[in-house]
Amino acid sequence: MRELKRKFLSHRNLNPLKFRFRLWRDQIGEKFRCDPAVGGPPRPVGTPPDSGVPSGKGDSARAKRVPIWFFILLAGISIFSSCARAPLPPPEISKPPMGTRSDITHTVGPGETCWRISQMYNVPIAAILRANDLTSSSVLKMGQKLLIPQATRPKPIVNLYPSSKWRYIIVHHSATGSGNALSVHNAHIHKGWDRGAGYHFVIDRGASNKRDGQIEMTPRWIKQQDGAHCKASGMNEKGIGVCLIGNFDKQHVTHRQFESLLELVNKLRRYYHIPIKNIIAHGHVEGAATQCPGKKFPWAKFQEELLGAEITKH
Ligand SMILES: [Zn+2]
Repeated sequence: MRELKRKFLSHRNLNPLKFRFRLWRDQIGEKFRCDPAVGGPPRPVGTPPDSGVPSGKGDSARAKRVPIWFFILLAGISIFSSCARAPLPPPEISKPPMGTRSDITHTVGPGETCWRISQMYNVPIAAILRANDLTSSSVLKMGQKLLIPQATRPKPIVNLYPSSKWRYIIVHHSATGSGNALSVHNAHIHKGWDRGAGYHFVIDRGASNKRDGQIEMTPRWIKQQDGAHCKASGMNEKGIGVCLIGNFDKQHVTHRQFESLLELVNKLRRYYHIPIKNIIAHGHVEGAATQCPGKKFPWAKFQEELLGAEITKH
């Protein structure tokens, strides 16, 4: 209090604004104990005061030697640091586009399990069970309709099993305008093939509750059984059978089917080390008397794409 009174008296001839400024300047000088005449850095705590400067009034005198540019600099730093400390606006959170998830009805295909369906639509198994009043011990039936809550667009689930059995990939068409793995399975059961669908994979074309380009595995693939799709040259025992839904004698393969076929074949041939020359159209297998997968199937383009993928890989 006495110190304040002394300062007041020494500044009593100043106008109030100048008085406040000098008081503030003195306080700053005390705080930093910087001697601008010397130009040295702020003195570390514990360092004795300069020998030639008396205490008390001396501190004030030293502070008075602080030039005006020092305070302008301090004010600048203060403004800058307050700007730097200003909270940043919250980052924009990228929200998934609307409509990417929706409730859909799924028809259970041959050999499908709750696990596979949950993977396909990226929905927890518990949510599927709850939405359909099922329990974990419930057995799904082929053709059963399931409500899939908040499903994403189905992604292909292609299981790969270690095996040296598969050395060829044979491409077929279903020679039907529509269908899916379930209808093919039922048709082959009807033929008396007790293992059902003779192919290992079916690629849909947007009909029969399946999306255009959707890849379905059949029970023969899940169980790693021989196919029933190409007897010629013993391909049933060594060739993976892939069937595209459609009659490519009359219609064209869809863009999505073609892309899915490339994706599937590239995945399989890389995993099983199948050379491109062993990826064959059914009709090109030695001994096969058929035009499968149809006159309109773009085989040359398909081979070109496979070779392109091979070159890109290397
Ligand atoms: Zn065929």
